[in-house]
Amino acid sequence: MKGKIAFIPRPRTLEFFTCDVPDPEPGAIVLEVTQTNVCGSEVHMWKGEIGGPHGVMPGHEMSGRVVMLGERVSADWAGAAVKAGDRIAPVPYLVCNRCVNCEAGNQAACLNNIVRHMHPDQPPHFTATFATHYYVQPGQCFYRIPDNVPDRIAASANCAMSIVYWALDKSGVGYGDTLAVMGAGGLGLHAAALASARGARVIVMDSVARRLQQARGFGAHATIDLRDYADLRARRRRLRELTGYGPDAVLEAAGVPQAFGDALAYARQGGKVIEVGNVLLTPAAPIAPGLITMKSLQITAAMGYPPHYLKKSLDFLSRNIGRYPYNELCDAQFELSDAALALDRSERREVTRAAIMPQRG
Ligand SMILES: [Zn+2]
Ligand SMILES: [Zn+2]
Repeated sequence: MKGKIAFIPRPRTLEFFTCDVPDPEPGAIVLEVTQTNVCGSEVHMWKGEIGGPHGVMPGHEMSGRVVMLGERVSADWAGAAVKAGDRIAPVPYLVCNRCVNCEAGNQAACLNNIVRHMHPDQPPHFTATFATHYYVQPGQCFYRIPDNVPDRIAASANCAMSIVYWALDKSGVGYGDTLAVMGAGGLGLHAAALASARGARVIVMDSVARRLQQARGFGAHATIDLRDYADLRARRRRLRELTGYGPDAVLEAAGVPQAFGDALAYARQGGKVIEVGNVLLTPAAPIAPGLITMKSLQITAAMGYPPHYLKKSLDFLSRNIGRYPYNELCDAQFELSDAALALDRSERREVTRAAIMPQRG
């Protein structure tokens, strides 16, 4: 059996490789990719901001169907039986479970986090998800997708959703808190739903009317259209009007360096700032560290998540599938052969979340 997998050899170029789909070794699984999404990191790869001089394999958010199970695989990581044909969501990396961070329960910061994205030529070839198939390696966590959660909704559970789930838990945002969410993209909308479902009061800030309207559907109690409040001062004043003395927590999901400095200004005295949006090391933005000290702020960040958070996310989706408009998260669909178009249109912001359907076409 042959499969196809995409590769970005240099910025704004996509190549496809046709490779033999390997039989799974003991402990491994071979999946058919039913949906994969263009996430922010794929756009960074496309622009050449992530990935080395030798190119990069795009794709980490996916839903799939089991094609072949390796020896000793009969259940997912929560113990649910799996067989050929079952729908699966994998965590896109492996953690070691032995380093100091793993032992402390912070597997998101594993010192030996393994992402085996080399080159499509290297067996087992299918280690990224812009592909017809995906190889789940021995030791790589995966879960069955609940029956009432469609593939198109489960596909983002293993990235944006699990990251903000972990970030909210790690910073202790809960019942009765006010949370300001900066940015109503995938991270921001998932955060609004997760936080409002646990009883927080959520205020979402963005400058696109359609996204703010979507945020309301995802549980936001109030929204702030940045175009109505010209500068930081006016925006902070508006937040105070809505919350009294400022939000208890601010989640930065806008992903521009300056937004972190703004988050420090928005949070109330003694409040929390949660950074999940910025993932590039440059450019830098000037901030006043004294603001953190003088306001006694608690800063938390999350990149990745402990693998079992994927299970929590899938369960949350299953329980809340009718409550939030998850169907609207992806606003465009592409065949795998049109993945370059999907990346291009995502870069131009003509689509918010592009879905790639490798089993079509
Ligand atoms: Zn570790
Ligand atoms: Zn992602």
